[in-house]
Amino acid sequence: MQALEHNLTPVLAPEQIQARVAELAAEISRDFQGREVVLLGILKGAFIFMSDLARRMEVPVKVDFVRLASYGDSSQSSGQIVMTKAHELDLAGRTVVVVEDIVDTGLTLNWLMDHLRRQAPQDLKICALIDKPERREAQIEVDYVGFQIPRGFLVGYGLDYNECYRCLPGIYEVNL
Ligand code: 5GP
Repeated sequence: MQALEHNLTPVLAPEQIQARVAELAAEISRDFQGREVVLLGILKGAFIFMSDLARRMEVPVKVDFVRLASYGDSSQSSGQIVMTKAHELDLAGRTVVVVEDIVDTGLTLNWLMDHLRRQAPQDLKICALIDKPERREAQIEVDYVGFQIPRGFLVGYGLDYNECYRCLPGIYEVNL
């Protein structure tokens, strides 16, 4: 398949992302010193962020993933969510940090957090690389935020547009 070609405006340089990911990992490790942390990534967008974050953690880590699908168009979630791949670890009594690429309306995470609370983890936190607070519809408290970026459709570092651009090391705005 041919790669898409868009005009991409740089938003976050690779070095900026790496420095912030190291800070986030240090902060989470400090908060859960002496514990084992389950990093629960949301596929697919969080896969690169999650792998960098996991390797920077200073406490023992287990990793797991969920995959969620939301009805609606690809750029806006509808809040009607289905879990197409469930987590495989037993989360009861565990320290769980959900790793998300972008929190936008918050509808996806709102649904997932409801589901995860029913698994009775001891701690349940959210770490998002990017927070877009302007479009929030669900009340979601993001515990660890990499960057606040108010608007624009972003790609790179795991984020796609029609499955393209996920492997760019920086983050860019697509000029659609
Ligand atoms: P929401 O918080 O609105 O339920 O959905 C967040 C999800 O929408 C993210 O995990 C991501 O998959 C997608 N999303 C939101 N904003 C962007 C963006 O700027 N770029 C990309 N590639 N996906 C986005």
